[in-house]
Amino acid sequence: MIWANKGAADGLGKKLEDIVGLHCYTLWHGRTEPCDPCPVLDSFSTGRPAGLVVTTPDGRTWDLRTIPLLDDRGDAATVIEVGRDITEHRRLEAQYLQAQKMEAIGHLAGGVAHDFNNILSAIIGYGHLTLMNMREDDPLRLNIENILEASDRAAYLTQELLLFGRKQVTERKPLDLNDVLLKVKKFLLRVIGADVEFETFPFSSPLPILADSHQLEQVLMNLATNARDAMPKGGTFTVATEQVALGADFCSAHGYGKPGAYALLTASDTGKGMNEETCKRIFEPFFTTKEVGKGTGLGLAVVYGIIKRHEGFINVYSEPNKGTRFKIYLPLVAREPREGVAMQADDMPARGTETILLAEDDPSLRQLAKTVLTTFGYSVLEANDGKDAVEKFIANRDRIQLLLFDLVMPKMNGKEAFDEVRKINACIKAVFVSGYAEDALDKDSLPEHDVLFIQKPVTPIDLLRKVRELLDR
Ligand code: ADP
Ligand code: MG
Repeated sequence: MIWANKGAADGLGKKLEDIVGLHCYTLWHGRTEPCDPCPVLDSFSTGRPAGLVVTTPDGRTWDLRTIPLLDDRGDAATVIEVGRDITEHRRLEAQYLQAQKMEAIGHLAGGVAHDFNNILSAIIGYGHLTLMNMREDDPLRLNIENILEASDRAAYLTQELLLFGRKQVTERKPLDLNDVLLKVKKFLLRVIGADVEFETFPFSSPLPILADSHQLEQVLMNLATNARDAMPKGGTFTVATEQVALGADFCSAHGYGKPGAYALLTASDTGKGMNEETCKRIFEPFFTTKEVGKGTGLGLAVVYGIIKRHEGFINVYSEPNKGTRFKIYLPLVAREPREGVAMQADDMPARGTETILLAEDDPSLRQLAKTVLTTFGYSVLEANDGKDAVEKFIANRDRIQLLLFDLVMPKMNGKEAFDEVRKINACIKAVFVSGYAEDALDKDSLPEHDVLFIQKPVTPIDLLRKVRELLDR
């Protein structure tokens, strides 16, 4: 080496005069002979520029370029070597590729789930319809019931996919947080595995909150998965619920939340814990400390998103080797949770005589909805896309009392068609059927009082209940 700049010297922690005259392979690579390959030697022998990307023992990545300076005969007399530290650049690149990959998978999953939901709607719908028309003692009932049960599981799977693609509609209903915990307990047991002790301490009285049960189940699953990963040699995972009142002092101390009554869910494990640095970043999408292929870094990002959508907040307390504790606060609602969610088979929805404009592009689903509605006394006008729906509405504006629109349709989507129709009749009500939350759909821009959402796959009873509920409002 006949000369080096200050950056090179600083990088070695030496003074410039101490490195001139030494060999680069000694200084940077701790070797007694040239590296193989070596771009400097390459340039000397070929008289042409060369390059190499190397990772040094300290884990940093360097982009090395060499440029020969030629003498009168055209031989390389001197070579300039430029080294750039591209560690950060490479890290960002990898992160970007990972983000892109996840996004693509999300799109794919969302798209498949959407079509799959339509198919499931037909299976579930016709199944229920058959059951409704079967005699109580028909021996074939059991077969249909088995088909429906399997379809329910398939529907659950599609929900997972949609949640992953973050395309799921949040459907918040009054429910008891303790019920959610109870419901998901056996799944959590399976996630947690046999080596880990699992204990639940539900609060002694109900904790009414406004929530999407499935999404809260997802939250618990993700927390349990992480707890399991943090306790490879076993330990205890505990989930407790309680009721707390947050005062103004708590909110100002934490810098978030509104004073009031909250349901508090605490999930603790006795695992390896985290340092402060990690704690700060865990909710970032794609932040993971797990090896490639093990962690996606999405678990807690999804948790965070869900809690945010529920107007709640989450924080974490952890120290290395001292375990981890997550606290989730969800606002309590005054209303008592509705009794039970399951409908009794004989608890048939009320009939109606109104005329409904039905817009759905999938012919088998359209036929299904029509059959269900007409069986219960309604008159149905059909449209096969959004544009057709607007035209049919104009032609029959005096008869139609309710719109039943699929959200995703060709030519004009459900929301756009609804907006058009509302220009003609400003009080018309609509039930929207959706496979997943459309990015284009801004729920806040919809008249809350006049619309209801129903998520695919739709059961006939659900459909009839929503239709009746909105008409009676
Ligand atoms: P992933 O599990 O795919 O890594 P998450 O978003 O679920 O992604 O978690 C992000 C990171 O937070 C984990 O990689 C881990 O470092 C840390 N973490 C989460 N939960 C725990 C826990 N219970 N104990 C220790 N570390 C945890
Ligand atoms: Mg995780």
